[in-house]
Amino acid sequence: MIDVVLKKGKEKAVLQRHPWVFSGAIEKVKGKPANGEIVRLLGSKDDFLAYGFYNAQSRVAVRLLEWDENTAVDEAWFRDKVRTAVAGRNHILEDGNTDTCRLVFSESDYLPGLIVDKYARHLAVQVLTSGIQNALPVIIDELNTLLKPLSIYDKSDASSRAHEGLETTNTLLSGTQPPELVMVKENGITYGINIAEGQKSGFYCDQRYNRKELASYTKGKKVLDCFSYTGGFTLNSLREGAASVTSVDSSALAIETLEENIRLNNFAGAEHTAIKSDVNVQLRKFRDDGEKFDVIVLDPPKYAPSRSALDRASRAYKDLNRLGMQLLNSGGLLATFSCSGAMDMETFKQVMAWAALDAGKQVQFVYQFHQPEDHPVRASFPEGEYLKGLLCRVW
Ligand code: SAH
Repeated sequence: MIDVVLKKGKEKAVLQRHPWVFSGAIEKVKGKPANGEIVRLLGSKDDFLAYGFYNAQSRVAVRLLEWDENTAVDEAWFRDKVRTAVAGRNHILEDGNTDTCRLVFSESDYLPGLIVDKYARHLAVQVLTSGIQNALPVIIDELNTLLKPLSIYDKSDASSRAHEGLETTNTLLSGTQPPELVMVKENGITYGINIAEGQKSGFYCDQRYNRKELASYTKGKKVLDCFSYTGGFTLNSLREGAASVTSVDSSALAIETLEENIRLNNFAGAEHTAIKSDVNVQLRKFRDDGEKFDVIVLDPPKYAPSRSALDRASRAYKDLNRLGMQLLNSGGLLATFSCSGAMDMETFKQVMAWAALDAGKQVQFVYQFHQPEDHPVRASFPEGEYLKGLLCRVW
């Protein structure tokens, strides 16, 4: 096994079990490891620190896996990590109302670069590191042994693969081709998931409980669901008896799938409108038309991909939320989210305070939303925390 030696003074984060070693922290590599090869990380005095995946192309040159020198990172090690992660999700699936969740969440489950999502009896994986790419046959075999899925689909079309020198893929790995829409249940609501064509691996299961919580405020209300994707917040609100729900998304496929999901569930009574549009344009149109709502959801894509983008992203979040606040009836509720890891909850609250000032509104935070337990945060890897939201009462 090839040794990688850290520069003097760079050991601290590794000793605290942070799983990333940046290329700038490396003194020397004693050999020429291939991308994805497992290496030994040594301190500046040649003392053993950890085993990890090496990648010469990535800013994160070593992704650490194991800190015990006597524990080999072999097939059994990968199988054990997959088994542990899957077992940790059992209780989400136990009550029979939900058969979709994230089974493996990358670094947070000690498998840097591996995402596995469960869609009823189908699985979708995303492989974001060359190390996991090498271990994939063992991981797939273990998933088949544990869960006997009908299919395992590789949906690794994320741009982050380019950092590791990997090609994007969108292909069946095991089993039979999943149907165009795989039927799943979440909170007792049925959704059709388009694994091959949908965004990410097909669905945003990180909003499972937030959809339900928000919906509990929507009975008899006029609701606007912005960045609706396939209708998570929309469907939960319709079931709770919202008077009307308007869903806005710029993706034609998202709107088409949302409309199919509404047909599938057949919640009687409420009025529903789907609008395929840019939210920034549509909100201004509502403002110009004098349209008002009782509850507004804003769940935009990630505005801050890194820390350096935070200032710019903060302005974008502020502008979006100012518009949202202005479209609420007095005392209405704004459920606003940020899935940018670089923006923490405190900063997000400041952005909202800033938006309130700009909108000329009073804002009270009545509830804080977080990512669910199938997106755990490792104590030694705070970067795993990314989803946050605020339920705001606005006057
Ligand atoms: N709330 C959704 C998830 C939102 S993901 C749920 O519960 O499932 C973000 C969504 O924003 C995607 O569906 C994407 O198509 C949409 N989107 C991105 N930029 C947009 C824009 N400028 N206007 C409208 N929709 C946009």
